[in-house]
Amino acid sequence: MDYGMIGKIEKAKRYAEERDRITFNSLAVEFKGNNNFYEIRLNGEGWQCSCPGFQSHAICPHVMTMERLFKPMLKRDPLPYAPGQNVVSDVEKSKRYSEETDRIQFTAFDVTFHGSNNDHHTKYHENAMQCDCDFFNTRRVCSHSMAMERILLKMLPKQPATEE
Ligand SMILES: [Zn+2]
Ligand SMILES: [Zn+2]
Repeated sequence: MDYGMIGKIEKAKRYAEERDRITFNSLAVEFKGNNNFYEIRLNGEGWQCSCPGFQSHAICPHVMTMERLFKPMLKRDPLPYAPGQNVVSDVEKSKRYSEETDRIQFTAFDVTFHGSNNDHHTKYHENAMQCDCDFFNTRRVCSHSMAMERILLKMLPKQPATEE
C-alpha cells in the first residue's frame, strides 16, 4: 500500500471520530420495524417516515432512532414530541433500535465534510460512493468515502462483488 493511501486511511479514522465535521444534507434508509419495513428520508424540508405513527404525529421511533445515532451529523433540532404520541414507548423503542443497527440499511446519502481548508461532498447512490475530492477522482476511494464506511459499517449494503 502506498503512502498516499495510508495517509487517507488515517484521515478517515479521524473523521469518523470527529463527526461534527460531517453534515447529512440528505439521506434515505430502509428501516426494519418489528413487523414492517419503513422508508425514512431526510432532505432540506426535514424528515419523512412511511410508518403510520409518522403520518399522524410527524414524529416516530424510527426517526428518533436516526436522531439518536447520527446527532452530531444532523445539525438540526430533534423533532418535537407531539400531542397524542406515546412518548415513553417511542423513547424506549428508539433506544432499543439504536442498538440494533442491523435494522437500518442506507439506500442513499449526501454529506458535506467540513475540512480544514475545503468542504467536500460525498454521495452514496445505487450502491456506489462518489466524492468530489481529487484523490477520489483518481483512486475511486478517499478519506471521506472511507470515513462514511467506518461510521455506517453494516448499515451500508454490501458492495456488489466486482466482476472478474
Ligand atoms: Zn417511522
Ligand atoms: Zn473525498
